[in-house]
Amino acid sequence: MTGDTPDGLSDPLCYLDGELVPLSAARIHPFDRGFVFGDGLYEVFRVRAGRPLWVAEHLDRLESGLAEVRIPLPGGRNEIERAVTEVTARAGLGDGSVYLQITRGAGPRARTPPPDLEPTVLVAPSAHPHLPPAAVPHAAVTVTDRRWGRCDLKTVSLMATVLGKLAARDAGADEVVFATPDGSLREGGSTNLFVRRDDALETHPAGPEILPGITRALLLDLARREGLPLRPAAPRLEQRELWQEAFLCGTLTGVQPLVELDGEPVADGRSGEWTRRLAGALEALERQLCGLG
Ligand code: PLP
Repeated sequence: MTGDTPDGLSDPLCYLDGELVPLSAARIHPFDRGFVFGDGLYEVFRVRAGRPLWVAEHLDRLESGLAEVRIPLPGGRNEIERAVTEVTARAGLGDGSVYLQITRGAGPRARTPPPDLEPTVLVAPSAHPHLPPAAVPHAAVTVTDRRWGRCDLKTVSLMATVLGKLAARDAGADEVVFATPDGSLREGGSTNLFVRRDDALETHPAGPEILPGITRALLLDLARREGLPLRPAAPRLEQRELWQEAFLCGTLTGVQPLVELDGEPVADGRSGEWTRRLAGALEALERQLCGLG
């Protein structure tokens, strides 16, 4: 692989274990536990007009996840925040994202980690355009959720998600939605799901079954501020005839209408009013944060 990021920055500097190095020169040990066991966590920060967004929220989730999996954060939160800022600035990144991965480190190939490992920290930028809010209709397919019991941790072990995304691609869809065998809908492969039914918004309650999405939390706040009623319940497949609209949300996706599920239109197959309202409210908040007026 060259040092180019998938979206076209030419060999940007990345942060690896305390140093800034060209991506093409970054080297990770073959026995890094992230590579061997998927023993690590990650975050993705969206960058807009050169500014990483919702950094405190992402770092809160990262810190609490790392504490749960017992991986220390080298240099602490301030060091990571500095790394994200520095990598963004040195790449001259306008719109895009910054990927952060922390693994337990490199060591002998044993499932039980030795006590003295140094975690590996990678922070790398990527340039891509900002998706216009509520303007990119999405199709999804449901698959039975066969992920593990701690989907609230943002682990790099994503095999079940990769298989779900492949099923979506095979069906010509943009996203997978994980469902329980009895038809309760959890979340997308890289998004959270909201449904409007009976003029209330449903999304799967926080817990080990879903990632507590940063965008999801922001939208719940905005919905409260906009006076949109919330129902603390997971959307259910057998009620889909009653859905008035649905949308997916995530750091890279933003807020986008879900217009088709399993090959059938959702509601009238178009972007819904509450989707546009919430997407617009989030967009306004972000533009304000980025000084875009
Ligand atoms: N759910 C899953 C499984 C995800 O992987 C993601 C993001 O990658 C999300 C939800 C959305 O979370 P966030 O808004 O923090 O990006």
